[in-house]
This record gives sequence, C-alpha cells and structure tokens, in this order.
Amino acid sequence: MKRSFLIKPMLDDDYPTAKYGKGIYIYDENDKQYLDGSSGAVTAGIGHAVPEIIEAMHAQAQKISFVYRSQFTTEEAERLAEKLSHIEFIKDGEYCSFFVNSGSEATETAMKIAIQYWQEQGKPTRIKVISRWTSYHGITMGALSLSGHSERRKRFVSLLDDLPTIHAPYCYRCPFAESFPGCQLKCASELEGAIQRLGADQIAAFIAEPIIGAAGAVIVPPEGYYERIKEICERYEILFIADEVMTGIGRTGKMLAMEHWDVKPDIIALGKGMSAGYTPIAATLVSEEVMKPIRQGSKVIMSGHTYSANPQSAAVALAVLDYIERHHLVEEAAENGAYLLNELQKLAKNYPIIGDVRGKGLMAGVEFVSNFFSKYPFSKNVNLTNRIVATARDKGLLIYPASAGIEGGDGDAVIISPPLTIKKHEIDQLIHIFRDTIEEVQGGLM
Ligand code: PLP
Repeated sequence: MKRSFLIKPMLDDDYPTAKYGKGIYIYDENDKQYLDGSSGAVTAGIGHAVPEIIEAMHAQAQKISFVYRSQFTTEEAERLAEKLSHIEFIKDGEYCSFFVNSGSEATETAMKIAIQYWQEQGKPTRIKVISRWTSYHGITMGALSLSGHSERRKRFVSLLDDLPTIHAPYCYRCPFAESFPGCQLKCASELEGAIQRLGADQIAAFIAEPIIGAAGAVIVPPEGYYERIKEICERYEILFIADEVMTGIGRTGKMLAMEHWDVKPDIIALGKGMSAGYTPIAATLVSEEVMKPIRQGSKVIMSGHTYSANPQSAAVALAVLDYIERHHLVEEAAENGAYLLNELQKLAKNYPIIGDVRGKGLMAGVEFVSNFFSKYPFSKNVNLTNRIVATARDKGLLIYPASAGIEGGDGDAVIISPPLTIKKHEIDQLIHIFRDTIEEVQGGLM
C-alpha cells in the first residue's frame, strides 16, 4: 500500500478514495457506487455536485472569496443572516446570526453568548450550562464539556469543565425504568432538581439537541417534553439553547426540529445542512431578547474566527437554502422520511438483533440488541456497529455509526439519514442493501 501522509480517523483503516459524487451517490477510484445513506455525517442534505451550487460557488469566487469580518461586511453574509432570521417558525424572535465554521464552534459560541448575556446584566455568577448525559455538542474543549458522549470525552476528562447533566428522554431504555405517559416526564422535571441543587444564580443556560444524534442514534423525546423544559427554563430564567446542528435545515421534516413541539429556543446552533457540505459554515442564532443587553452593554461578542462570515461560504449556504426552498425539500423530507421509517420498521420485524427503530423526517436510528426481549446490548468485543457499517459499505451503502443512547457509551446503533433529495425508489434500494447487510451480519453471529 502507498505511504499516506494524511492523518485519518482510523490510522490503519483502508478508506476508499472518493472520486466524484452525483445526487445521492458517491463513486470511488474504481467507479464503485455508494448510496450516501447518511449524507456523510448527516450533512450532504441536497446530495452531491448539484449544478446550481457549483454555479453559485463559481460566481462568488469570481467576485471575492474572503474578507476579514473586522474590516468588511458583505452582501452575502448580510443576506444569509436575513434569510435565517426569516425562517417562518422563528421570525417573530428577530434572531441575528453569528457565523462560524463548524457545529462545535456554533455550540461553543452559544455557550459564550449565554454567559455574556448574564454578565451584561451584572450577573457574572451565571456561568454553568446544564446539558444531558446522552448528548454530543462538538469536539472542541468547550463543546465537549457540554457533551455526555463518553467515548469522545474520556481522554480529556480532566481538562473538561465539569458541567451538570441530566438524563435524556430515552424512552426505549427509560433511565427511570418507567414508561410514557405514566412517567409524568420525570426526565424533563429532572431539570428543575438540577437547577435547585446548583442554584439558579449559577446557571446561564440549558442546552439540548432537539433529537439526539450521534450519542443516541435519533432519540425523539415524548410529547410534552420540551414544553416542560421550556416552562422550567422560564420559571428559573435559564436560557434555552437548541443545538440544531444535526436536526436543522429540514432534516426532520421541519425547517427547525423545535417546530415539532412549537417551543422557541433563546439561542440556536446550526451547521451541517446549512451548506450541505459544500463549504464549511455554521451559525449561532441569537434572539433579540438575548441580544438586547449586549447591544445596550458592551456591544461586542467576544468570540469569532478568521473565516467567520466569509462570503464564499455565505454564498454557498444561500444557494443551498434557495435550493431547499425551490424544491420543497422540507416537505419531501417529511413525506419520504415517514416512508423510510415505515420500511425500516417492517424490516426490523424479521431481524431480532434490531431492538428499536426510531426517527423523524429523514433522520432514522436503528438500535441493535443481543436479546430482543431483555434489550441487552452486545458486548463491545462483538464490534457490531463497525461490522454493520463496514458490511453495508462493501455492499455500496453508507450509514453512520452512532452510540445507542446508553449512558457510558455501551450499545450499538446506526443513523440512516440520506440527502433530502432522495426519491422513494432510491429509499427502496437503500432498504434492500440494508436488509442484505443485517442478514449477513446477523447470520455471522450464529
Ligand atoms: N452538535 C451536534 C448535534 C452534532 O451532531 C455535531 C456533529 O456531529 C456537532 C454539534 C459538532 O459539529 P462539527 O462536527 O461540525 O464541529
């Protein structure tokens, strides 16, 4: 094998070389076709090599690709911020955008702005952000401090801020050993206990992924969960940050996932689907309520990056958002997502290693168990998730490895989240390859 100087996620793995993409497919150096069943890391929301986006990239590159945000604003960044503020569900909140380059930066900026919001009002002790055990908010130190993803935290734990956490609304394995609705949403009410234990005067915000992604393979909370969370946040004057990095921009069949519960966050982190992977850009959306004391106070957001709000990325994100709108991809995601979920649920009936299938829109999670009835997870030695992902890849289907949602990181699961542009016959192809994959992997376990 040729010596590689690229540091890849798994140093010894022999990754195929991607040569080109078209629609929902990626082709490698041998022209082998892969159906992009996860949009990479739930990112390539409109598929690959879309001509309109290539044109927008080209046109912007001919004008200007970079200016420094402390020296210029640009029409592209201004228009993008305006477009995001006009998202129907949040338009009353007059949200302004702070642009960054990755989801990790977006959640970390959200945390900083929440802290600053209190500082500007003479409340500097409000610096803690409560999050959930089963969560992933990013890989930089601040974002990782917010995250409960054990596997990603464990090497750095001593450096991470010890932020308070509560249990996730993981109904398949309820952390309180109860079931909905008899549980009376203990998982949401736990937030109040955490606030009281710490003292509200120590807490800046609560952060949650509306639907848990990497750390829990698409955990959708039960009805009433976010209403209760919001009510507690308001009662104790805690800001609510929605990390929509994975769920935002149509992925769940609504432009923003919080729309499913009609609960408006104070701050929203966006990433991934915003530019659909064409160029790095992410955003922290801040409601006017939160901006007000900053505008009246220091008038500075003490954060930012060299590439923040660069016009090249802004132009691409604008083109992606236009494309989503013009092709009604949010509505398509709702309809095709329901079809995908139904097909996965049908498939699951024949394979006892599938313990649970869950999802919303085109974001589906499949959790695997060694015993269907006891829900006992596979031992780590079985390496089940990686076997499933690798077998699917060999068969020409890309799916995303995830944690099952068990605190501590045990359990196997995958996320299936194809581009929002996928058609029903392509979902049938995805299901066909996924079935072959499960058949082969389950057979190999006997
Ligand atoms: N927040 C959520 C919910 C995510 O799923 C991710 C990435 O998977 C991040 C934040 C971090 O985003 P990035 O990898 O772009 O830094």
